[in-house]
Amino acid sequence: MADINVDQFANIRSVALEKILDKKKEGLKVVGIYCTFCPQELVLAAGAIPVGLCGTREDPIPAAEEVLPRNLCPLIKSSYGFALTDTCPFFAFSDLIVGETTCDGKKKMFEIMQDLKPVHVMQLPHQKSPFSFDLWVKEIRRLRSRIEEVLEVTITDEDIWKAIDLVNREKELLKEICDLNQMSPPPIRGIDLLTVTWSSGFSHDKEEVIQMMEALKNKLESIKIEPEAAQKPRILLTGCPVGLGSEKVIRLVDELGATVVAMENCSGYKTLELRTDRNNDDPIVVLAEKYVNIPCSCMSPNPYRMELLGRMIDDFKADAVIDLTWQACHTYNIESYEVKKLVKEKGLPFLHLESDYSSSDEESLKVRIEAMLEMTKQ
Ligand code: SF4
Ligand code: SF4
Repeated sequence: MADINVDQFANIRSVALEKILDKKKEGLKVVGIYCTFCPQELVLAAGAIPVGLCGTREDPIPAAEEVLPRNLCPLIKSSYGFALTDTCPFFAFSDLIVGETTCDGKKKMFEIMQDLKPVHVMQLPHQKSPFSFDLWVKEIRRLRSRIEEVLEVTITDEDIWKAIDLVNREKELLKEICDLNQMSPPPIRGIDLLTVTWSSGFSHDKEEVIQMMEALKNKLESIKIEPEAAQKPRILLTGCPVGLGSEKVIRLVDELGATVVAMENCSGYKTLELRTDRNNDDPIVVLAEKYVNIPCSCMSPNPYRMELLGRMIDDFKADAVIDLTWQACHTYNIESYEVKKLVKEKGLPFLHLESDYSSSDEESLKVRIEAMLEMTKQ
């Protein structure tokens, strides 16, 4: 594996903060989003900046636990904790927060968060059917109106189509970068891949991040990789979202001499195959079609996740699969049964880990990952 410098991506957050701070005085609007189900195209079409607010660090969790139950997913507690303690500048800058009724914990947390900021909660259908699709289209129209009202702008169809093209280009390029790891040896380490995919969500300028991705892709295509890197076991990570600050499993895999070649979670590949088509004159309908296909475990049933995972195992030539569930995430926890079945059918080692954002279980995680890696040698 080559030493790829992803510092430029690691710095996206701090650069975006400076730019937003400058432009806020000139009236720039920011919309905070917590989930991939939020159609960020509408935010872009409003001339605002969408920023990902999903909490990935442990620091604000104790404060959150003063309000929320301790037995709740760390992602929800961290997200709320940052808001409550006013320690996330992106939250502070947000003129509007968009949430969705994905899982029970999140939707109830958003009710409480409304005390801190204006929060718009989208009612997400949990299955794909003609009836629920109509509801979802209406929900996206309702979001459009709410953004227009809060930001005092008019969102035109033409602006939405432009934003659709921009997001399509960004996703296409991100997928191309991720797909380079189908090669053996993979050109980019798991932790660097996460830095690229996760940090991109904070960019204040999508055209700029697209250029950075193009440069990275060209570099990855041309680097020389040490052949011994091909000996490392190739791990596919699936399950709950991971970000910088909650990347301990990716780091441990690396420390134990293996490499995460792909991530089928929201911070990775989950939405990268989904494009918004121009198969309808109404941009809201095509956005609804794209977003209802996201294979999150909150969808029931959720066959596309298993289809995607099956293809990823083959395409990325995985030697083993790790399924990471954050504590108290019932939907991913239960869906792990289906994931295990699929991985076993492929004849590969499978490891289901349940954890939180603390480092207290790192030793036991290490032992279990090590044991799984031993199985890849058999
Ligand atoms: S895992 Fe589901 S709820 Fe969480 S960010 Fe992804 S789509 Fe949203
Ligand atoms: S990880 Fe699970 S419980 Fe936590 S916010 Fe996502 S879907 Fe909800």
